[in-house]
Amino acid sequence: MANTVLIGSQWGDEGKGKIIDVIAPHHQWVVRYQGGNNAGHTVEIGDQRYVLHLLPSGILRDGCQCVIGNGVVIDPAALEKEIDEVEASGIITIGRLFVSDRAHMIMPYHCLIDSSREGRAADKEKIGTTKRGIGPTYADKASRVGLRIGDMLEPDFADLVAARVRENNQVLAALDAPQVDEQECVARYVALAARLKPYIADTIKLLNDADAREEAILFEGAQGVMLDLDYGTYPFVTSSSASAGGACTGSGVPPHRIAKVIGVIKAYTTRVGEGPFPTELHDESGESLRKAGNEFGATTGRPRRCGWFDAVVGRYAAMVNGIDYWALTKMDVLDQQAKIPICVAYECDGERIETVPASVRAYARCRPVYEEMPGWQSDTTEIERLEDLPDAAKRYMARLEELTGVPVGIVSVGPKRHSTFVIDSVCKFRT
Ligand code: GDP
Repeated sequence: MANTVLIGSQWGDEGKGKIIDVIAPHHQWVVRYQGGNNAGHTVEIGDQRYVLHLLPSGILRDGCQCVIGNGVVIDPAALEKEIDEVEASGIITIGRLFVSDRAHMIMPYHCLIDSSREGRAADKEKIGTTKRGIGPTYADKASRVGLRIGDMLEPDFADLVAARVRENNQVLAALDAPQVDEQECVARYVALAARLKPYIADTIKLLNDADAREEAILFEGAQGVMLDLDYGTYPFVTSSSASAGGACTGSGVPPHRIAKVIGVIKAYTTRVGEGPFPTELHDESGESLRKAGNEFGATTGRPRRCGWFDAVVGRYAAMVNGIDYWALTKMDVLDQQAKIPICVAYECDGERIETVPASVRAYARCRPVYEEMPGWQSDTTEIERLEDLPDAAKRYMARLEELTGVPVGIVSVGPKRHSTFVIDSVCKFRT
């Protein structure tokens, strides 16, 4: 069994897309299991740059089968657009892409409810959502009033959509938000159902059958553990299980079939949107990380907040996900730093604490306790072998391993496939 879960171990944008693309050839299946088109993976292959929001990154690899699992929420129009885009660059999706019939469907009223709530919230209560209807769709799922992708195959699908639109127009009226045109929405969703029908499948059976045949499955997490609905900085979180546990509930593959968990972690920290972030830098060090790391959101273009590596977050991510090894990305972004602080603990209300507190208010009062490592001040982006990394970079990596209790298995020093080193003694495959 070689089934792997790969997750973001900070606040997302760790470079998961690139690592997945590098390890995808060792797997026959790549599965998205949570979130929606609020995720944004960037993958560079040769001169082509792909930004994928909903499609698993494995779609860019011939011979890889891709699944959008039951834990994902799907905007069918966004899915259609993304399929059109990758097909335009010659990638075949029919027979390779399977969409769970149990995945919930984002409707136009979800997006309107999302924007209306976020727009009306007082500044300090804004969650920083992407306003793509993800949260309200998960809320409908939990309230048992959602529409699922499988409903598209039912003869009364048009009636189901019409009934939901009428009901939600009342909610929209109460929020003073624009109404959804019932007829237009029904016509659009019926057309989308016809377009997406060839992709809709019982992906639970498909994946378990593949697993029984010993085909390796890679589960692709979106966002990161600090944005997980349960473990993150609630309420400044996403509305799904971005941690390793979500891979099982979001795909129907049982926990004992997962062989390992890879945590993707940046050599520093970033966060998009609102919410506390203890190591955030408000000075020119933050600006230099943002510039060197090109830290602007793949989905929204928003500048990301930047700060030093937070080992408390790393330890916490390792604990709740059972991380076997890190894929440490963006080491090159630190190339020019003379000194590199690492947050080893927090100080909160006069006490030293070693883990992430539940209360977002307490977390906002946490101040980082730093230790400092010397930088390497040389260009790592052209390095082609792990051995050639500067000694100071190797010492920095070793310290992160020590502080988090997890070995580094993959190191990345640039956006391209070849700027990735696999440490054979930790990983059991080669790229
Ligand atoms: P994801 O959502 O976790 O996949 O992360 P994003 O795609 O939003 O952001 C990662 C960005 O960093 C992308 O533009 C990648 O091409 C880029 N990237 C990935 N790994 C590295 C690296 O090691 N160094 C540099 N400089 N960029 C990287």
